[in-house]
Amino acid sequence: MVKPGDIVRIKTEDDVLEGTYIEKPTLLGADTIVLKLDHGYNIGIDKNKIKDIKIVKESIKRKVKHEPLPVDKKLPTVLILSTGGTISSKVDYTTGGVLAEYDARDFVEMCPELSKIANIQAERVMQIMSEDMGTDDWSNISKAVADRLKDVDGIVLTMGTDTFGYTAAALSFALKVNKPVVITAAQRSIDRGSSDAFFNLICAVKAAAEWDGAEVVTCMHGTSADDHCLLLRGSSVRKMHSSRRDAFRPINTHELATITPKKITPSNIKHKKRSKDKIVLNNLFSSDVALVYAHPGMKPEVFDMYQKYKGIIIAGTGFGHVPSQVYDRIKELVDNGVFVGMTTQCIYGSTSSTVYSPLRRLSLEVGITFLGDMLSETAFAKLSWACGSAKNIEEIKKTMLDNIAHESSNRRDFNDFLN
Ligand code: ASP
Repeated sequence: MVKPGDIVRIKTEDDVLEGTYIEKPTLLGADTIVLKLDHGYNIGIDKNKIKDIKIVKESIKRKVKHEPLPVDKKLPTVLILSTGGTISSKVDYTTGGVLAEYDARDFVEMCPELSKIANIQAERVMQIMSEDMGTDDWSNISKAVADRLKDVDGIVLTMGTDTFGYTAAALSFALKVNKPVVITAAQRSIDRGSSDAFFNLICAVKAAAEWDGAEVVTCMHGTSADDHCLLLRGSSVRKMHSSRRDAFRPINTHELATITPKKITPSNIKHKKRSKDKIVLNNLFSSDVALVYAHPGMKPEVFDMYQKYKGIIIAGTGFGHVPSQVYDRIKELVDNGVFVGMTTQCIYGSTSSTVYSPLRRLSLEVGITFLGDMLSETAFAKLSWACGSAKNIEEIKKTMLDNIAHESSNRRDFNDFLN
């Protein structure tokens, strides 16, 4: 009797297929079975066409034992805090999808190289996919980092990739740190041969243990091969591809350093150095904020939704445009005390409130605050943070225009486009 997880060979009328048998997802009809093939993709097979089915290897439930972690007094200490996501996931043979199951402790058991770089401590903060992370989670993660950073030489935070850029930005505002806080993740789950998890983890632990900086940064594959990772500022990183290992790119800037398991090579960008300064935590975030994407034919009533919000970010077209039919409705929001900030949906480059007359109107008459080259996702996280403690729209506006974590700059380097 074939069980989910068994490796089977199936002979059909026109093919022979080998793969892992997955319990049929309920969406498929009773006549279909599902195989996960070697390259990771699933295939449905019509039962009526099956001539023969053989078990090649029975599934074994892999138990990860927790041995005491080794301690080497000559090595720095790094704490890995896990929050879930694909890096913590393995294939769930009842659905064929991946489920967050492993935590920081398991990473150390499965990747003994980590213990050669640092004495590893491991804790689970939460176990969720990053699409489910909200402002309360940003608040709890920042607090966990602030509580533990003083006892170690650096922290690695693992999470899902989807909202990685938002969380990295949120933490960059919520925390002033005196050691590295390195966020990493994986595009492919740890139980797949092509997983990027271990290389990312090794480079992230190397950075947390040895980088001379004191900022919230991210550490992910720099190319699709396992040759180096890029250390990027948390306030200007974006997921630019849904599946590539090198999906995380610096926007309007470049890396702070490249990291290999053996070496850290700094770039020419100056960064804040490790120090004995106090760690400062301000983890109040508001969820009464939104990120709205401008589009052709946008209807004014879209903005009625936000009457009770504290603020919204509009990702405008080009330099920061919205269709003129929505101007009056946005002005009503601003007049009612809702902060409205403008970023560009071009991703690269900056907004401008002066190039075209409509932009001058949006800025001077409608009252929109133009946010320069700040990424839309970063602006959203910053707005949530600004609204968490500000008392009025003027304070929100001031915070949004202050450059707090290198989230905006006037520097333009031709080579920073699509790098
Ligand atoms: N949806 C997953 C998440 O963000 C994807 C990933 O981790 O790569 O948690």
